[in-house]
Amino acid sequence: MKISWKNILLWSLPLVVILFFLWQGFLSPINSENNNSNIANSRMTYGRFLEYLEMGWVKRVDIYDNNHTAIVEAIGPELGNRTQKIRVELPANAPGLVKQLRDKEVDLDAHPIKNTSAIWNLVGNLFFPLLFIGGLALLFRRSNSGSGGPGQAMSFGKSKALFQMEAKTGIIFDDVAGVDEAKEEFQEVVTFLKEPESFTAVGAKIPKGVLLIGPPGTGKTLLAKAIAGEANVPFFSISGSEFVEMFVGVGASRVRDLFKKAKENAPCIIFIDEIDAVGRQRGTGIGGGNDEREQTLNQLLTEMDGFEGNTGIIVVAATNRADILDAALLRPGRFDRQVSVDVPDFNGRLAILRVHSKNKKLDVDVSLPTIARRTPGFSGADLANLLNEAAILTARRRKLQITNSEIDSSIDRVVAGMEGTPLIDSKSKRLIAYHEVGHAIVGTLLKNHEPVQKVTLIPRGQARGLTWFTPANDQALISRSQILSRIIAALGGRAAEEVVFGDAEVTTGASNDLQQVTSMARQMVTRFGMSEIGPLCLEDATVNPFLGRNLSNSTEYSDEIAIKIDTQVKTIVAACHEKALQIIKDNRVIIDYVVDLLIERETIEGDEFRNIIEKYTKIPDKYVVSG
Ligand code: ADP
Ligand code: MG
Ligand code: ZN
Repeated sequence: MKISWKNILLWSLPLVVILFFLWQGFLSPINSENNNSNIANSRMTYGRFLEYLEMGWVKRVDIYDNNHTAIVEAIGPELGNRTQKIRVELPANAPGLVKQLRDKEVDLDAHPIKNTSAIWNLVGNLFFPLLFIGGLALLFRRSNSGSGGPGQAMSFGKSKALFQMEAKTGIIFDDVAGVDEAKEEFQEVVTFLKEPESFTAVGAKIPKGVLLIGPPGTGKTLLAKAIAGEANVPFFSISGSEFVEMFVGVGASRVRDLFKKAKENAPCIIFIDEIDAVGRQRGTGIGGGNDEREQTLNQLLTEMDGFEGNTGIIVVAATNRADILDAALLRPGRFDRQVSVDVPDFNGRLAILRVHSKNKKLDVDVSLPTIARRTPGFSGADLANLLNEAAILTARRRKLQITNSEIDSSIDRVVAGMEGTPLIDSKSKRLIAYHEVGHAIVGTLLKNHEPVQKVTLIPRGQARGLTWFTPANDQALISRSQILSRIIAALGGRAAEEVVFGDAEVTTGASNDLQQVTSMARQMVTRFGMSEIGPLCLEDATVNPFLGRNLSNSTEYSDEIAIKIDTQVKTIVAACHEKALQIIKDNRVIIDYVVDLLIERETIEGDEFRNIIEKYTKIPDKYVVSG
């Protein structure tokens, strides 16, 4: 090769490019810190940050990036009582933030960008495009000349440690509540980890994998951490979705890395979250024959087969979609133990509330059983969130103890979203008021309906107004007349719009109601045998309730039956609609009165609502649903 200026220039380019990147990294520390996998990869909003500040949970704030970004060190119950670094985007001018931080005695440090000089900026800006073009030319040249081969450009997997390791999770079984069976199962796993000898001595093979199945927020991650905490072993964790990357081979090499590290640290727990992201059935075509995923899965299977049962590594995986996992994963010697955790029942909720209220100051009036009764369907995470929201609200109201009022607002917030500002009096507010009173009055006058808890015109989340009914006991069976009552009450809103404003004026506000109505009616026909078709199960009853839909949608009935189903659904809904219209028409005078009251007050509590209704109607002859 001739030594020419051109050659020297071209060969030195990669070096310069590397230097450039180092330099960039050096100048803006924020970037390099972000590359570090476990520093500040969680974020929070500015508003949230202010709440944290208020609560006194913020310990230190580092401001970067020309006051655009802050890395916040905070500790609090929401963060598992560990100090964590969280990234916050600051608004353009955060008024008085610095003073507020001073007042709260938070450590504050600002890191200015060092190359403020304009010349350096200019040089930097020009340099990069030039280098880029030069670098491209070089690559092009190299591939043309055929020397050097494909290079090492593809070995990404090794360098990044994308799994997390916690030497001590600090979580024990007592921190996990309401999942007693799962805990029992895991007690055994802890014993395996603590004294493997006693199992090896009698020739028992220690299981390699445990699969945790359950909807989000039920404590799967928490349980896995608790095993590590109880057994006092390190906890390696990675999420399935992190395996699946753009470049083929990266996932597989990450699996290799992870197991290698784990073996060096045995005994330990490897936790794979969202394993369904890699562990889907192979070759089904769902997700379009993803080669990368298959390779990752194969590597995982190989690794799990590769270590002897008694090396002290136990792989815990979590998913909410066990139905789509590859059968190979569930074979003996792999994830042969399966533990399901479900949304807690009343006792479970009570136990979880006890755990999470330990470090909170509750007013004597606050009753945990009452909260548990009011929150059917809440997961552990929802309950933790609920108590935390209440605590934040208490601090904001400058109270010393959490009272029922904060608890109520937080339940509403968790169920239905953030409270909005009420509309000013207008035709549309009137219409919403009629709609809600329609639900409430129909629900109240039906014999088998749950009582109204409150009616409100204060918007929340997507809803413009809301009627709350006291939730039914989540363990009781529901009768046919109860379901019918619910359908009628759900139609009460639309029925009131129709009666009061006429068919032409009805609004889209009822769409959510109609969705529920249709789904309830359809289930009556296809799952509960509550229609003229008779006691047949026509749709898969093993629908995972938390998926919210039927994946396979097994239509194992004839077209003829399909038509019959539709007819039955229509008949049920039509009859219920009639009933709702009738109740609204019969009670028009009292409805007008309550609507005026509601517009004036925005919210009417259930007891008062019932009192008013009772004064003007004869509640004893409630409408009974029979047909
Ligand atoms: P998952 O992994 O199942 O989605 P997590 O374990 O991440 O749920 O739970 C999130 C948070 O919710 C936990 O950190 C904990 O505060 C709370 N939580 C969930 N389930 C429970 C439970 N059974 N007992 C106590 N706390 C729980
Ligand atoms: Mg989780
Ligand atoms: Zn409605």
